[in-house]
Amino acid sequence: AEARETYSAARPNSAAIHAKARAVMPGGNTRTVLFYTPFPTAMTRGEGARLWDADGREYLDLCGEYTAGLFGHSETRILDAVKAAMDRGINLAAVGENEGRLAALICGRFPSVDQVRFTNSGTEANIMALAGARGFTGRTEVLAFRGGYHGGVFTFPVGTPVSPVNLPIPMRFADFNDPDGAARTIREAGEALAAVIVEPMQGSSGCIPATREFLQALREATRETGALLIFDEVMTSRHGFGGLQQRLGITPDMTTFGKYMAGGMSFGAFGGRAEVMAVFDGHRAGAMPHAGTFNNNVLSMAAGCVALGEIFDETAAEALYARGERLRDALNAACARHGVAMHFTGVGSMMTPHFRPGPVTAPYKASIEEEQMRELFFFDMLAAGMYLARRGMVALMLPVTDADCERFFAAVEEFCAARKPVL
Ligand code: PLP
Repeated sequence: AEARETYSAARPNSAAIHAKARAVMPGGNTRTVLFYTPFPTAMTRGEGARLWDADGREYLDLCGEYTAGLFGHSETRILDAVKAAMDRGINLAAVGENEGRLAALICGRFPSVDQVRFTNSGTEANIMALAGARGFTGRTEVLAFRGGYHGGVFTFPVGTPVSPVNLPIPMRFADFNDPDGAARTIREAGEALAAVIVEPMQGSSGCIPATREFLQALREATRETGALLIFDEVMTSRHGFGGLQQRLGITPDMTTFGKYMAGGMSFGAFGGRAEVMAVFDGHRAGAMPHAGTFNNNVLSMAAGCVALGEIFDETAAEALYARGERLRDALNAACARHGVAMHFTGVGSMMTPHFRPGPVTAPYKASIEEEQMRELFFFDMLAAGMYLARRGMVALMLPVTDADCERFFAAVEEFCAARKPVL
């Protein structure tokens, strides 16, 4: 309560923005993930890895727009590409050159992706990948994992058996990181199952990496039954030049993308083996439709070509991955030194604290005490000038420096010393 009061007193302008929005928007926001009580901080400006809120407070941006902000807030090459595209007209109602370029850049990075199509978001990419898988296999059911998040309509928190949206897809569920259970479910479903969709690291449920053994079991069982294996790499494709699939050495049939790939502009994409993607080929009779006014948004396509073609190359991807690994190792060493019930999980540049001792290898429903500690952590970090996702997730952006990581490390140490999270 005290942390909330201090928070509110320092942010009168954010409070006023929230109060006005609340009259015309339920909860005063249009993204559930950005909402928290008493009111969310409203940001007014960003530059590099810094943000400024409506009350003039400065933050180190460790949220990185939930992984979409990889390049920072003012990457000049991306800004130039967007401005140049705007100067040539925004909505041209025609195919352009850049979508083919961006598609080639993606196919060049991901050996499992022969062909790709674009959407406006990761959510849509998953919808279309599942549609494609069902079209290709002629089957209907889909297997997803408890704790999985594949977009607003595909939210499967632990303890809640179904998505909040009534999906028109018959779904089955299995436990994440349980290779035997998942393989059994796939075999039991047999020829009813069109696809298995999985995050190679569950992001939303707390940056929980899938084990290679688990993904390998999915690969083998789907190969046996003919279901397609879809990797949702909307968040994780940043973990290597060819995504987390390359790092793990496992080849899915289809992959979905989103977030940073269009330099921070709205984006989604789904792709895979040519024979699968051929279901969308309009040259063929009976091709599946995949329309969408903004699918080839000229700003996203232009920004994406620069983001992937000129900035986020193999060297940049590896350096970012290594910086994240170093930071997470240091944080976990500090948690152990302080003897607290706190542990960071993740892969490379993404990490989330859990207020229980590690290792954390599966999603779980947090206790009230854990939720309270998570909230305290969030407000303490804000007070220290660090902007994180409300659930504590950190997604490092390219302009975050080692000195920035050291500042965060010092703030976490202070939190451990002051709040002493115990179970
Ligand atoms: N899939 C995963 C793994 C995600 O983390 C997200 C978003 O956080 C999505 C899909 C949905 O992407 P979008 O928010 O662009 O619809």
